[in-house]
Amino acid sequence: MSGMFGRAADWLEHGRPVDGIPLCRHHGPACQMGAEPLSELYVLIIEAKRRAGEVVPPLDEHVPMTPSERARYEREVADLIAEKQAENAAVEAELNAGAP
Ligand SMILES: [Zn+2]
Repeated sequence: MSGMFGRAADWLEHGRPVDGIPLCRHHGPACQMGAEPLSELYVLIIEAKRRAGEVVPPLDEHVPMTPSERARYEREVADLIAEKQAENAAVEAELNAGAP
């Protein structure tokens, strides 16, 4: 998870993702393609989803994203960041409007 936030922070600061970070089809940047153990929190979330009947990725298999999967993933992250920035800006404007 921290890898994900670090990556998002880099993206915000530099305008694009850091090149060369391996992305797994199942876990995104979370597993570093099997080089990093998945965090306990990540595993707990996956297990909870599995118990809830959701389709979840395997925890012990790592498959590199294809270039098109990677491009889609990066677009989705960029969209999510833009959405959160817009929400933050709206909250900030509301707070400033309410200030005496
Ligand atoms: Zn993986």
